[in-house]
Amino acid sequence: MTLEGHSTAAGENQRTKRKILVVEDEEALAVGIRDAIEHAGYEVAVALDGNSALETARAGDFDLIVLDLMLPGQSGLDVLRALRKDKHTVRVLVLTALAEEEDLVKGFEAGADDYMKKPFSPRELLARIDAQFRRATMETAAPEHLELPGDIKVDLARLEVHRDGETIPLTPREGDILSYLIQHNDRVVTREDLLLDVWHYQSANVETRTVDIHIVGLRRKVEPEPAKPQLIQTVRGKGYRWYS
Ligand code: CA
Repeated sequence: MTLEGHSTAAGENQRTKRKILVVEDEEALAVGIRDAIEHAGYEVAVALDGNSALETARAGDFDLIVLDLMLPGQSGLDVLRALRKDKHTVRVLVLTALAEEEDLVKGFEAGADDYMKKPFSPRELLARIDAQFRRATMETAAPEHLELPGDIKVDLARLEVHRDGETIPLTPREGDILSYLIQHNDRVVTREDLLLDVWHYQSANVETRTVDIHIVGLRRKVEPEPAKPQLIQTVRGKGYRWYS
């Protein structure tokens, strides 16, 4: 089941071309989110269950999906996994009631870029969505093609890793983290640096696990031996450093 969006509000031009799919089975909440982000100038579609979410996501050209995890039919995780399996690189912001470590790990492993704990205000959600569209600063300075040890090649423009005859998609967030580490390979990058400059959070005091979970996922894709990372090195008590 899907809801029709209503007439577009006069929004800020930065946002007007972005299309967002809101997936939330609680209809009142779905409508509240839709109204808030539509009013801000985004183009919005709503899906109320997992199956229509997947169908709508595949049929439309969305820039971002706000995805509730607990849904009738397919769960949000199932939807996310199916999209990533299709090599969809759409940004995905997961909504979760619990935000327990295990849920977050599963969500990020399935390819989520960010999450928001319920309950939240539409304003908070809007800030998170806006942040998703801000790219890491100086991103263009990172090379587009990387040749890594172990005959692993990374195409940052296409967000793909080529290894062992396979093509593994990177999420936009993973691409941004990698670019950022490479651009700052002359120093240790702290979790706070990443949260402020890549996630564009206003403050970085609570979300450091988010960074670590993404680093683990990224290592699995780009490290020759993910269990013994040599490219994304951990600097104990400080953060991470890109080898070179
Ligand atoms: Ca739900």
